[in-house]
Amino acid sequence: RLHLGVMKQRTYAMIKPEVVEKMGEIFKIIISNGFKIAKLKMAQLTKEHARELYAEHEGKPFLPFLLEYITSGPVIAMELIADNGIKKWRELMGPTDCEVARKDAPGSIRARFGKDKSFNAVHGSDSMESELNIFFPENRIDQYKSPRSTAT
Ligand code: ADP
Ligand code: MG
Repeated sequence: RLHLGVMKQRTYAMIKPEVVEKMGEIFKIIISNGFKIAKLKMAQLTKEHARELYAEHEGKPFLPFLLEYITSGPVIAMELIADNGIKKWRELMGPTDCEVARKDAPGSIRARFGKDKSFNAVHGSDSMESELNIFFPENRIDQYKSPRSTAT
């Protein structure tokens, strides 16, 4: 197949517990910004799942708090697909610290829905790594296969 220009790319996105009740508004923003929501799941993480998700932060002082926070209620897990999906989703989220987001990226989701650098509304991958597999393991009967042919 011939690809011209940028490639469709999948990324892991997550609505964090404190804003799950705002999911409708957040879905609208995601869709109207050109993302396809290819997979979607509401689930409450165990500490073990959370540790796996945030493995890169092992040893950091904020990790224990982060694990408490992210397991405090259900999250909305998503596989998003768009051109340059990883970078594009991080841009739509805005900076990690929502106070910074309100200054530098006032239209971003974190600026609009987040509180500070801990409670920041949404999560996004910054690589092609395994976060999607934590939430959407392959070969499960409870999910459909999103189109591999159009996204890497
Ligand atoms: P991002 O979510 O933008 O990729 P990081 O990967 O650096 O940011 O951090 C993961 C999560 O840990 C953040 O989204 C936030 O919830 C929390 N976090 C990051 N840095 C801090 C901090 N200095 N103090 C408290 N919580 C933090
Ligand atoms: Mg990160």
